[in-house]
Amino acid sequence: DWILHNGEFIRENELNVSKEDRGYQFGDGIYEVIRVYEGNLFTAAEHIDRFYESAEKIKIVIPFTKDVFHKQMYDLVEMNEIDNGQVYVQVTRGDAIRQHHFPQATSPVIVAYTKKVERPVEMMEAGVKAKFIEDIRWLRCDIKSLNLLGNVLAKQEAHEDGSYEAILHRGEVVTEGSSSNMYGLKNGVIYTHPASNLILNGITRRVILNLCKELGITVQETAFTKTEALEMDEFFMSSTTAEIMPIIQIDGQDIGDGVPGELTQKLQQAFEANLKLTVKS
Ligand code: PLP
Repeated sequence: DWILHNGEFIRENELNVSKEDRGYQFGDGIYEVIRVYEGNLFTAAEHIDRFYESAEKIKIVIPFTKDVFHKQMYDLVEMNEIDNGQVYVQVTRGDAIRQHHFPQATSPVIVAYTKKVERPVEMMEAGVKAKFIEDIRWLRCDIKSLNLLGNVLAKQEAHEDGSYEAILHRGEVVTEGSSSNMYGLKNGVIYTHPASNLILNGITRRVILNLCKELGITVQETAFTKTEALEMDEFFMSSTTAEIMPIIQIDGQDIGDGVPGELTQKLQQAFEANLKLTVKS
């Protein structure tokens, strides 16, 4: 496979990353994951906008216009003949002698590669289990930072418990998943944490909120508690790779009837139709 390094297509064994790359030493960088369906980048513009926004929030300047960057992603997918899969792209502050403050002169290092991935259809049909875990992350979760220790530790704890995802909470308040956004449905209304500094405003989340508008489903971007979560009629999570994933059990307790909810399934269908439309056009 080809990989992209600072705008150049190279082979994997040609990639040379410094021992003092600031991404490697400090996690000083940001990233994106973009889904590829039938050779097309899904919601690419939104992901690219967020990539530039995250970079700007940590004062890294991407040395390409968004159009050039978009074409690089598109070419990478084409060159690697990715049908269904994803692009991972990250930018770090670059290579400099190790000191915490920004180096005076350094160039960002951008690396992108592709991977083939199928849609998790069986899990999306059956639903998954989740586990509550205290959200110990920093207060800028709106940045898609390479620093993922809080997320990694939470996911590991969930994984060891046999759960698919960790539902993070600050005190009583549910924020999001370790790599997803969280939603609960009660009496026909969908609740999800507002897009603040405490969550990553998922691109899938934005697609879902638009679909809800089209379908006439009321959404309240209002945080809910752990207790309220357990009393929801339906529960689901969303991310670029998991799409809309029903959560049927939290901490061993059934949500609703313990099967994927009706409205969750309706949203899954709408999401799939939307994705097929996008792929066609
Ligand atoms: N929240 C966190 C912490 C994430 O890492 C992710 C994605 O990986 C999401 C939410 C979902 O974002 P998106 O729908 O853009 O993939």
